[in-house]
Amino acid sequence: MQVILKPHKSVLCVCALNVFIALLAPSGGCSRKPSAQSVCVQNMQQLWEAARAQFRVRRGADDLLINPSELTNYLRGGVAPICPLGTNPYAPFSYREGPKCPNSDAHTQALRSGRS
Ligand SMILES: [Zn+2]
Repeated sequence: MQVILKPHKSVLCVCALNVFIALLAPSGGCSRKPSAQSVCVQNMQQLWEAARAQFRVRRGADDLLINPSELTNYLRGGVAPICPLGTNPYAPFSYREGPKCPNSDAHTQALRSGRS
């Protein structure tokens, strides 16, 4: 007697369902956890926006170093965010240069490329 291996019907069902879900959910949809990089870039964008707000109020030089902990008035939640990859806070930065990630150059580059 010859045994023919056939995929079980329910396996096919699950596969079809996965494809269906993959088609429905846009990449980076809210069900998926955002990457550390995208969280970090968002953090730095927030800090940069806050720096701009402070810069407008204080009218300082745009190469003046701003400590993220001074920006809490301009940040949602009143707390300076940190990169998900580490516990180091973002270092003081100038409004002209923008924030830098203390953990990953790739995060900083992603921020820079998003801005230019
Ligand atoms: Zn980072």
